[in-house]
Amino acid sequence: MTAMRPETPAPNEVPARLRRVLKEIAIAAEAASREPAGVRLVAVTKTVPASVIEEAISAGQRCFGENRVQEAQAKWPALKERHPGIELHLIGPLQSNKVREAVALFDVIETLDRPKLARALAEELERAGKSPRLFVQVNTGEEPQKVGVSPAETVPFVALCRETFGLSIDGLMCIPPFEEEPAMHFALLAKLAATVGVKELSMGMSGDFARAVAFGATYVRVGTAIFGARATTEE
Ligand SMILES: *Cc1c(COP(=O)(O)O)cnc(C)c1O
Repeated sequence: MTAMRPETPAPNEVPARLRRVLKEIAIAAEAASREPAGVRLVAVTKTVPASVIEEAISAGQRCFGENRVQEAQAKWPALKERHPGIELHLIGPLQSNKVREAVALFDVIETLDRPKLARALAEELERAGKSPRLFVQVNTGEEPQKVGVSPAETVPFVALCRETFGLSIDGLMCIPPFEEEPAMHFALLAKLAATVGVKELSMGMSGDFARAVAFGATYVRVGTAIFGARATTEE
């Protein structure tokens, strides 16, 4: 990516910001009577160059998220090779024609959201003999421009993934509407997860991860608070 990053953190700033986010997660977990270790931080590295990602890895971070398969392919094979134990999450939409690349690179695919993709994933997992963990993305705000299954479709869609395609589904993920109070979306996602019997809840970003922890998030996806602001053209 050639996007400019206006607020590129100064050297050593990434480890400090990372520590601050981890501390806020721990405080939020304790306030909710939860084990801090039950909340994992996905450090979101879209638009972040490999050299800056290395700073986070050196500071001990192992779990990362990217929203584009192509960008991830340019950065992560080399980083994974150099640093064993990386857990890479796909948090952006997955096109069926990118399934092979995604399955080869990602350890968790958070954006399963339609039958065609479920079928393509099932075929590729079988072919490649791999088993990335799969989360279903739920469009909790029912926003027409956003991907994800609607709340009402979630139970039948998870059943379809399991029964028709033989996929095991480990979690649900959501991106609440930007202009709305996220709490009701987090609560809805947690309720749906309990209904379909999955344990992982991926919710909460830089602006609201502490609240997501209060509602049961097991993964929070945080970019800006660690790596600084991204170029506005990026999304
Ligand atoms: C970019 C992104 C994030 C991180 O957002 P920040 O506000 O920078 O923390 C989280 N989830 C998804 C799906 C994203 O695309």
